Amino acid sequence: ESDDISGTRGGNGSSNCFEDRVVVLVIGGGGREHALCYALQRSPSCDVVFCAPGNAGISQSGNATCIPDLNILDSKAVISFCQRWGVGLVVVGPEAPLVVGLADDLVKVGIPTFGPSAKAAALEGSKDFMKKLCDKYDIPTAKYQTFINPSFAKQYVKEQGAPIVVKADGLAAGKGVIVAMSLEEAYEAIDSMLVDGAFGSAGSQVIIEEFLEGEEASFFALVDGETAIPLESAQDHKRIGDGDTGPNTGGMGAYSPAPILTKELESIVMDSIILPTVKGMEAEGHKFIGVLYAGLMIEKKTGMPKLIEYNVRFGDPECQVLMMRLESDLAQVLLAACRGELGSVSLEWSPGSAMVVVMASKGYPGSYKKGTKIRNLEEAEMLSPAVQIFHAGTDIDPDGNFIAVSGRVLGVTARGKDLEEARERVYDAVEAVDWPEGFFRHDIGWRALHVKQFTYNL
Ligand code: AMP
Repeated sequence: ESDDISGTRGGNGSSNCFEDRVVVLVIGGGGREHALCYALQRSPSCDVVFCAPGNAGISQSGNATCIPDLNILDSKAVISFCQRWGVGLVVVGPEAPLVVGLADDLVKVGIPTFGPSAKAAALEGSKDFMKKLCDKYDIPTAKYQTFINPSFAKQYVKEQGAPIVVKADGLAAGKGVIVAMSLEEAYEAIDSMLVDGAFGSAGSQVIIEEFLEGEEASFFALVDGETAIPLESAQDHKRIGDGDTGPNTGGMGAYSPAPILTKELESIVMDSIILPTVKGMEAEGHKFIGVLYAGLMIEKKTGMPKLIEYNVRFGDPECQVLMMRLESDLAQVLLAACRGELGSVSLEWSPGSAMVVVMASKGYPGSYKKGTKIRNLEEAEMLSPAVQIFHAGTDIDPDGNFIAVSGRVLGVTARGKDLEEARERVYDAVEAVDWPEGFFRHDIGWRALHVKQFTYNL
């Protein structure tokens, strides 16, 4: 095991500052959850870490004990597991269990849970809900209107002109947003959602929204129902190809810090977007506890941020670089969020940078082969104590080899004194991984490094 270059790992049994160390259950089984388990395992106040369902890499790395058979969408099963094992904190990674009310059910029986209620998760689940909240609490966002009637929608598009943005109201796996450069393109998007039902019930209502021009940035805050604290900045690369080209993916890499988010901008985002959202949700009777992940547009003409969308969980792979840099006791911080005590928390971060490069199965985000062998992971991790490989989709074959079982498979992550050093370490480790059926982007961090094209060739 190769964690711990910062020396924050506690829990060797001799310390008595956390007599009641907490047993934690992480819900999920991707790279984000592996990174959370890694950080929790380093928390001095954390006793045992369970992860359900987890994955082969999480259990092999020893970052958590995985419970592959626990149905995370079945609150009763999760509650009975927590009661049996004395779980004192549940951390919910993905959105699906939140939407079905897992956090509501756990909190009802007194189990501290980091993650929003089903109602509060509507900030991500319904764009209409999010936009109405923005209207009511004066949160800057693109001007919009909601439609269920295609003729009225087209009339509005005609009045507003192109470019214009058409969005399915509900969750559409990241594909429900059309940035239409012409009126025809917008009409087509309206028809496909409202007439042809391309996104099912998620697209039975559409939002038509002003096109915002500028640079996009992500912003993360921890929220305890009444207040919020910002996390360090992190930025992902969504497109599949070098130079940010090709189709969207779940994220092909990320880096932290992200220079676009200056301290000045951070305080503007907190004051004008995050805190009004938290207060608004509280006033509406849906206190939000968890991570607020805001997608922002820093408008070219004003330099000011506007909210594009909310996610109600950690981004993945951004979570991987954030957990690599976090030096605070994560279990303590998340428990403080569950108890409404974030106001007294100040987060500590390693001062350098971190980068993650996602290794994916060839063919992703389209179809790909499952079961291909991955070798040399240990050798890659041994290259530097600052390197950590998070697993998103691996299994172990009968011969004991790691095999790839999903699209995004590994998050090769490294810290460095600056982004250049983190980048060098990450790509050295990526190169050391022996996986002929895998691929990755070569240019993660290019915007922050002010490089248009890397000469790096593998
Ligand atoms: P969303 O799922 O709402 O984050 O939208 C997906 C992507 O569409 C964003 O990351 C932006 O690149 C783009 N987008 C969404 N809304 C707008 C907007 N109002 N103006 C310009 N681009 C947008």
